Amino acid sequence: MLYSRLVDAYESISKTTKRLEITSLLVGLLRQTPPTVIDKVVYLTQGKLYPDYLGIEVGIAEKLAIKCISAVAGTTEQKVTAEYKAKGDLGTAVEELLDKKTQAALQKEPLTVEDVYTGLDRIARSAGSGSVESKIRQLTGMLGKASPIEAKYLIRTALGRLRLGVADMTILDALSQAFASGKASRTVLEQAYNRSSDLGLLSKRLAAGGIQEIESFKITVGIPVRPMLAERLPDAKEILEKMDGIAAAEYKYDGLRIQAHLSPNGITMFSRRLENITEQFPDVQKLLKQGVGIGEIVLEGETVPVDSATGDLLPFQLVSQRRGRKYELEKTIEEIPVAFFAFDILFANGTDYTGQPYPKRRGALEKLVRSQDRLGLSRQMIVRSAEQLDEFMQQAIADGCEGLMIKSVGPDSIYKAGSRGWAWIKYKREYKSEMQDTVDLAVVGAFAGRGRRGGAYGALLLAAYDEKEDMFRTTCKCGSGFTDEDLAKLPELLDKYKVDHKHARVDSKIEADAWFVPGLVIEVIGAEITLSPIHTCGMNSIRPGAGLAIRFPRFTGRYRTEKAPEEATTAIEIIEMYNNQLKKIESKPMEAV
Ligand code: ATP
Repeated sequence: MLYSRLVDAYESISKTTKRLEITSLLVGLLRQTPPTVIDKVVYLTQGKLYPDYLGIEVGIAEKLAIKCISAVAGTTEQKVTAEYKAKGDLGTAVEELLDKKTQAALQKEPLTVEDVYTGLDRIARSAGSGSVESKIRQLTGMLGKASPIEAKYLIRTALGRLRLGVADMTILDALSQAFASGKASRTVLEQAYNRSSDLGLLSKRLAAGGIQEIESFKITVGIPVRPMLAERLPDAKEILEKMDGIAAAEYKYDGLRIQAHLSPNGITMFSRRLENITEQFPDVQKLLKQGVGIGEIVLEGETVPVDSATGDLLPFQLVSQRRGRKYELEKTIEEIPVAFFAFDILFANGTDYTGQPYPKRRGALEKLVRSQDRLGLSRQMIVRSAEQLDEFMQQAIADGCEGLMIKSVGPDSIYKAGSRGWAWIKYKREYKSEMQDTVDLAVVGAFAGRGRRGGAYGALLLAAYDEKEDMFRTTCKCGSGFTDEDLAKLPELLDKYKVDHKHARVDSKIEADAWFVPGLVIEVIGAEITLSPIHTCGMNSIRPGAGLAIRFPRFTGRYRTEKAPEEATTAIEIIEMYNNQLKKIESKPMEAV
């Protein structure tokens, strides 16, 4: 398949911000794509080469890309750098620099999708001595065959900055329209995606065998399942009503969620964002090896740091430091040991447990896990009254947890992969401020700092996720809570998300000084949620023309890097928090309001 076909679609997609238009452009593209390369087209359109969980990133250093461009354009590296500085994007710079006539002459052998995929794959995989030369050879070879416009997208992809804004859900919509029909097949596709976390694989099977092929998609040990998530409520009575009077209350451990895939060949572990974190937790591997029966098993649990002397649970931050510090791993493991509390089972020796109600899954988990030092099941109590629930909550807090997870025990309490629903409700301890809970918001823009913050970002524009429309809608401008260290670090943290215009998936009435692809998620607490004419989160849901804003937002210091932007607090959750706040005010005695 010609790369120019893909590039035509990219051009049209980048000119629109409407999701429906993007979807129909994708449908056109997918229908014209031969089934043999459809997986590659899907990955490339999202700026990737593989599903995220494999952790293989496209990426070539800017310096190398500049070297390659200068060789192909027949100009100096200084000139390329100057053009890059002027345009702010190396893709646009290369499009300008390449001589259209020379490139046309060179294009005797046109660039194909296969060429681009294979070239980028070689770049991604080359390591060690000679890798720099090999990367230069690959990229120069591809650029030599590319037209100026192809070169623009090739460079952006090679740098890991394609950023077309095509979300997973949009690809699923497009796939179902291109190869299957009706709402039912869209649901089947999404369920298969939730079990495989791999849109490329899904598209290949769908294009080759139709929707029947997708219906038989199974959980595979070693391939992560997208996690089930919880709703939240602040009141025990309300929670119990939602659960029809009976529920399993469990300690909500404040740690890191791990999905462990056990097989006779070894154990693989994935984070909540489906990154492979096996290497960082050899101690958890050891615990699981000792305490869980042999076979093919997929289970989930929370890893929590513990005090080695007392066994007390310690703050989450201590385990998050494990990430990325490979060289000091052994020391950290010794100094800050962790415990693992299993809370769900998804698969065991040929049986898919996700379709079974929670009590059955818990029963299977109890049989499978042999509790021992630092390994066990999440502490659980079946509750039938609000009083029982509150009492258990006090106990959980006293034991160092952040609250409770209340789980449905009804016949419908299946494991809903990849979705947030009322079968799980989180009940967290109250914070001192009126806003009862922290929120996790996506950074979508930033404002230049003034005075002491000159040259850095002074405040961030933050957004909640609107699941229905797959958009990020602003809810506050946050400038407090950042330490000097945070302020120094932010430009670097955000650089990889930077775009020169408001992103297609961002809904903002505010003009920011810098815009970002929603990527970084941070935790924020505010004084209260108020109606706002300028913020777009929850627009028109409470009052026409008004959205919802977080008043006096403050960064808690917690970067939620384990969360994808789509896992940020949703607009619906903010609306619920606003309504709960109103209820709380109404139920207070008059003089207290
Ligand atoms: P928060 O931001 O409130 O910590 P979250 O947004 O990260 O929560 P939620 O799905 O809203 O994620 O809350 C559930 C999380 O709580 C799970 O992802 C898991 O990491 C953690 N957890 C701790 N204990 C349990 C338990 N017993 N059962 C299920 N999840 C648990």
